[in-house]
Amino acid sequence: MKKQFFSVMKFPVYVSIALIIIFAIAFILVYQAYSVLLGWSLGKKILYTGIIVVVAWLVSTWLLILASTTKKFKSAGFRIYLKWMLFHVYYRISRWMNTIFFQRTSTFRESFLNFNNEIILTNHSRIPGKKILLLLPHCLQNSKCRIRVTANIIYCEECGKCDVAALKKMSLENNVQAALASGGSMARKVIKDFDPDVVIAVACHRDLIEGVRDAWKLPIFAILNERPNGPCFETTVNLADVQFALNKFI
Ligand code: SF4
Repeated sequence: MKKQFFSVMKFPVYVSIALIIIFAIAFILVYQAYSVLLGWSLGKKILYTGIIVVVAWLVSTWLLILASTTKKFKSAGFRIYLKWMLFHVYYRISRWMNTIFFQRTSTFRESFLNFNNEIILTNHSRIPGKKILLLLPHCLQNSKCRIRVTANIIYCEECGKCDVAALKKMSLENNVQAALASGGSMARKVIKDFDPDVVIAVACHRDLIEGVRDAWKLPIFAILNERPNGPCFETTVNLADVQFALNKFI
């Protein structure tokens, strides 16, 4: 229960705490300056006004990002601005907080991915005619299988020894493109070639966070894989999570 709570709340709580601290420091600085310095120089006036403006901008943008988890803003340009801020400013702020509090990176990453998923579901659910790509990691494949499913998942013979069979079936039933990528470069190539509107990506924490940050403009719904045999070897995925995502986007 505690782990589940952190996997969802860690990222937004960190950003909110950081902004409260920044706001408090800025308020004390400006308050002291106002009470002590009556005959201000122009430089000091500009400096303290600038601090107030920057802090107010950071807080208001964060509130809008929180709102974007449940509300779709009409302007595409504004949504891109909020995403840029999320990935380039607030992600960094919360990562520092995670380091300061000596917390595990995996739960922090999971929380960020969950937060980003909420925004993607709000902005991209059920838009007809959408091109959806189901992007899967190569380590899902059974290690003894000799079929080159990275070339095309359709080659899977559905023997049932790994989750690739069920995922192939799901992609055919839902009429979405599915691909297995053996690394970041291949994943980038698949995305470039297919040019999807939405990506449903399955991978580990590290690969997912690198992928969503690398292609931050693209809506990537992230699903963590399970690693019963250790990292990068015969991994599995909760098929109900994949079906949930497909149902939301189709
Ligand atoms: S389900 Fe497909 S990919 Fe997995 S072992 Fe069988 S043939 Fe190979």
